[in-house]
Amino acid sequence: MKYNKNLMNLEKYNSFENLSRKIENYKKSNPQHKLISLGVGDVSKPIIKPVAEAMKKAVDDLTDMKSFKGYGSYNGYVFLKQAILENEYKDFNFSYDEIYISAGAKTDTSSILELFDIDSKILINDIMYPVYQAGAASLNRKVSLLKLNEDNAFVAQVPKESYDIIYICSPNNPIGIAYSKDDLKKWIDYARENKAIILYDNVYSSFIREKNIAKTIYEIEGAKEVAIEFRSFSKDLSFTGVRCSYYIIPKEIDKDINKLWKTRTINRFNGAGYIAQKGATASFSKEAKELIKQNIDEYLSVAKELKAIFKEFSFTVYGGANSPYLWVRAPKDLNSWETFELFLKDLEIIIVPGIIFGTAGDNYFRLSSLISKDDLKEIKKRMQNKFIK
Ligand code: PLP
Repeated sequence: MKYNKNLMNLEKYNSFENLSRKIENYKKSNPQHKLISLGVGDVSKPIIKPVAEAMKKAVDDLTDMKSFKGYGSYNGYVFLKQAILENEYKDFNFSYDEIYISAGAKTDTSSILELFDIDSKILINDIMYPVYQAGAASLNRKVSLLKLNEDNAFVAQVPKESYDIIYICSPNNPIGIAYSKDDLKKWIDYARENKAIILYDNVYSSFIREKNIAKTIYEIEGAKEVAIEFRSFSKDLSFTGVRCSYYIIPKEIDKDINKLWKTRTINRFNGAGYIAQKGATASFSKEAKELIKQNIDEYLSVAKELKAIFKEFSFTVYGGANSPYLWVRAPKDLNSWETFELFLKDLEIIIVPGIIFGTAGDNYFRLSSLISKDDLKEIKKRMQNKFIK
């Protein structure tokens, strides 16, 4: 027996596991202290009523064999596919064969690599959602990294070399910025010229508020020929525990692509849960849409206030306009783990060290605004005791 070497190499990287361990150790030694977490991006709002009610009703369906649902929804129920296509992709004319319902974009964004040749040249940004690199490694794929920094405004510029598969995350985790339509057009042109595929992670689409940011990559001319788009219900529906997501594979990429992927999916996945899919479908009613918008607007207003607080104490802060994340430059002379220790021990505030998102992130840290508004006052008070305005 031999282990997957790529996976073993990943073990030495800085990870969220490492972060959780440090936080747990601190909590054990200081059990009476109240930590404020601006760390791991879980939500702070409950599931909205219309969605919860639909899930309760779905549970009832399962108690009667006339409405019972078992195996069979490998790629998702038509009722949810129809709701998504009508509400999110009205102008794009996708068929049910091009949309896949799944149980979370974390799995989807890496398992999609199974569709492509093992020797495909994969390009990922250095400062990335770390799952892309770890997921690729678990599938024995090798990746190339393209560094993001302040000089390129944290937006990847098209390279001279040719790649087969390109990951783009917009609005971006961890940097919290979104690609403009012009930026995306350059990547789509690049992908068309190089016969490449763009894996477009758009799980934060519901946070987009600015007009020059595309709600979906398919707004950009030519995207249907080259892009697979991923979305998730995790953040807008507080489904981080329920689990439901979807992605689009346009038939324009290749006439056989969906046939091939369906063969794979049927053999590797038994479908997202019926209850989750019923809940997700209920999120497209007028009432639910309004409640979701209110929740996201609140997260965005926390992001704005959090940004203002950090700026007040002379931090350089990026992101937060179309995203729940802020990307902050670490204090001079401190790397990102040292900054994490400083915030944990001196302020009892949890941040995420930038190096977890790639070596180019080591002078930065990430803040999540998916917190309760009530914590902002206390954060400001703790900052006042440590930093000078
Ligand atoms: N993609 C990005 C960029 C994310 O930030 C996350 C979760 O934080 C995911 C995918 C995974 O989402 P899901 O909960 O649907 O697995």
